[in-house]
Amino acid sequence: MAQQPIPASYQRSITDVISMPSPGRIPFSVEFMPPRDDAAEARLWKAAETFHDLGAAFVSVTYGAGGSSRERTTRVARQLARHPLTTLVHLTLVNHTEEELISILKDYAGAGLSNLLALRGDPPGGDPLGEWTPTPGGYHFASELIELTKRLPETSHFQVGIATFPEGHFRAPSLEADTEFTLAKLRAGAEFSITQMFFDVDYYLRLRDRLVKADSEQGAKPIIPGIMPITSLRSVRRQIELSGAHLPAQLEERLVAAARGDEEAHRDDIRKVGIEVSTAMAERLIAEGVPDLHFMTMNFARATQEVLHNLGMAPAWGPELGHDAVR
Ligand code: FAD
Repeated sequence: MAQQPIPASYQRSITDVISMPSPGRIPFSVEFMPPRDDAAEARLWKAAETFHDLGAAFVSVTYGAGGSSRERTTRVARQLARHPLTTLVHLTLVNHTEEELISILKDYAGAGLSNLLALRGDPPGGDPLGEWTPTPGGYHFASELIELTKRLPETSHFQVGIATFPEGHFRAPSLEADTEFTLAKLRAGAEFSITQMFFDVDYYLRLRDRLVKADSEQGAKPIIPGIMPITSLRSVRRQIELSGAHLPAQLEERLVAAARGDEEAHRDDIRKVGIEVSTAMAERLIAEGVPDLHFMTMNFARATQEVLHNLGMAPAWGPELGHDAVR
């Protein structure tokens, strides 16, 4: 049967692009953040070109915690949508009324975006582990944003993804409750998920098993593992603090040993351990049949490219190698 053409104003869906033939062993994708300043923005566009050249299946743009970073999310996502890069734009409920969410969704649709990661967001005020209170006139849970997106005529064609938590969301009363809340989001119309970063592949595998066991149909929807290549001890500790994820003691010991008491002086050694660990995790995830590897890049291309290179999915890169294989 002939395939239906995709309307010119839509992008391909995420589940489509991750099931298409990819140049590497499996598809990969990358996460960008709204850039803080002009230098960060220039770096983002360079990284976007690199990942385009390397054949990324899609790129995502996180939604800022507030104010101008939110405008930058929209601006960057609009611009990415004009490039030949399938773009997944994030949106959270934080400090938004329903009316505002509707207006942002319409704006996304008007920019030609059609893939959304529907999130609740962390409590405003800088403490992600703090108490969450909904905005008056806004929503409580990400599932309501999924329902809104599917209900609005302007966005009913969007493909919606959600966040999943290999270790369980830290606010969920139990892993069973976390599984039920995740399934509720999938039943509300989400078609894939991206996980929070994790540093032990067993957590990912347990999440996958939990979901399939609880609901074989919903649980079979793609669960894309989120991988954060470690390049610094300080930054991984900060990420752990922000996400509530767990850093295995053995890995922390390896990173601390590489730092030898002076992180600045031994940055390259820490980075080497981090890249090795991310590569080993990615190898195991590929063997486990994951649908895609999603790298949290912090808008840098190099560490992710090194992991991809180790996996045989990208050329080596760098002036010290005598060439500039990609932009
Ligand atoms: P929800 O699914 O709404 O869950 C929130 C909490 O409520 C959880 O504890 C859950 O267990 C509980 N819950 C859910 N449903 C119910 C229910 N029916 N009854 C009772 N309790 C319930 N944050 C940003 O600010 N910007 C981003 O761009 C961003 N991107 C992210 C991308 C990924 C891949 C991930 C994993 C996280 C991201 N986050 C982002 C962080 C995310 O917003 C937070 O982790 C947030 O605390 C949870 O969001 P959620 O969408 O999972 O919320």
